[in-house]
Amino acid sequence: MAGDRFRTRGQPAAVDAVTAMLAGGMPHAILLAGPSGVGKGTLAEDIAAGLLCRAEDRSVRPCRECRGCRALEHGNHPDLHRLGPAGAGLVIPIGGRDERGVRDLVRDLALLPVEGGARVAIVTAADRMTEDAQSAFLKTLEEPPANTVLILTASDEERLLPTIRSRTSRIRLGQVARPDVEQILVDAGLVDAPMAARLARLSAGRPGDAVSLARVPESLAIRGEVGRTLIDLAGATRADRLRIGRDLLARAGELTAAVRRAADAGTSGSVAGTRPGRGRKAAAPPAADPDAGPAVARVPAAERRAAALTLVAIWRDVARDLALVSLDEHAAVRQMDLLDDLEAATGRLSPAFAAAQLRRLDVAGERLEGNVSPELVIDALALGWAA
Ligand SMILES: [Zn+2]
Repeated sequence: MAGDRFRTRGQPAAVDAVTAMLAGGMPHAILLAGPSGVGKGTLAEDIAAGLLCRAEDRSVRPCRECRGCRALEHGNHPDLHRLGPAGAGLVIPIGGRDERGVRDLVRDLALLPVEGGARVAIVTAADRMTEDAQSAFLKTLEEPPANTVLILTASDEERLLPTIRSRTSRIRLGQVARPDVEQILVDAGLVDAPMAARLARLSAGRPGDAVSLARVPESLAIRGEVGRTLIDLAGATRADRLRIGRDLLARAGELTAAVRRAADAGTSGSVAGTRPGRGRKAAAPPAADPDAGPAVARVPAAERRAAALTLVAIWRDVARDLALVSLDEHAAVRQMDLLDDLEAATGRLSPAFAAAQLRRLDVAGERLEGNVSPELVIDALALGWAA
C-alpha cells in the first residue's frame, strides 16, 4: 500500500493520482493546489521520495530505507532542489543576485545530477513568485532539463500565469476529514484524544494548522481570549475599537511567532511537547527591544503581515461562528469554547452583521496580500466592526 510509505494523510484521491504517476508516466511538472495546511508540502516530499528512491522494485518506492531515501530523510539529498518565498514580502524573486530566486534554481538544474538518477525541484508557494520570476520559470517549464521533475505547490493558483498552469499536471488537495486530522495529531504524539478533537474542529480540515496549534500549548487560550475580545469589541467606542484592534494585532503577533518557533523546533527533529514553559518562552515578541518605541516600527514587515493574517483568520472564525449560532447550526461551530459568548452576542449581532463582516474580512485578507500597511487594514476592520 502506497498509503503506508507516504506521509500524506487524509488525501486519498491525490495519493492515488501520485501513485499512478510514480508507477509510470510521471509528468515533468506537477502543481499541487489546495488551501494552506492541507498537506501539499508533505505530498511534495512524498513525490520527491518516490522519485529519488533507489529501490529496484518500483512498486515499493519510496522504501524509506535505501541510500536515496535516507539522504532525503536527513535533508541532504544532492539532487533535491528547493525554492520558496523569503524576504519582507514573502515572495519568490527572479533572483540571480542577493536573494535566492528562480534564476538560482534554473542554474542548479543545469548541472548534472550528482547521483545519476532523477532530479527533483520543489517550489513551495509557487504562487508567491513575482511576475518576472514566473516568466523566467516558464522557460524551464517549456524546455525542462532531462530526467527532472518540477513540483510546485500553490494555495492561490489564480496568481500563477495561465501558461504556467497549462504546462503543469494539476493535483488538487482538499480539506482533510475531521477524524483524519484527529488521527494525525494523536499519531504525532502531540496531544491526547480530547484535545485532538478540539483542534481538529478548530482547524477546519487543515491538519497543518492543527499541528501548529498543538505545538504551542497556550495557542487555544490565546485564540479564545482574542475571540472573546472580538465579540465584545462590536459594542466598544470608536476610540476603544482602534486601541483594542492594535492590542489584538500584537497578541496575534505573539501567537504567530510562537507557532513559527515551535515549527522550526519541530523540523529539527524534536517533537514539540506540552512541557509548561516551552510555549511561554516561545511566545516572547520577536526581536523586541524593551526600550524601543512603538513595537510596530521594530517588527519586520513580513512578521507584521503574518500577525495581521492570523488575526483576520481568527476574526473570520468569530464572524462565521456568530452567523452559525444565530442560525442554530451549532454542530458546525469551530470555536466550541466560545459558545456561551457567541450565544450571548446573537441578540446584539445579527446574521446580517456577521455576513457583512465576513465580506469585509475577505477584502482585508486580499489587501494584506498587497502592499498595504497591516495596521491600517486592522484599524479599518476595527472601525467597521460596530453593531
Ligand atoms: Zn528508497
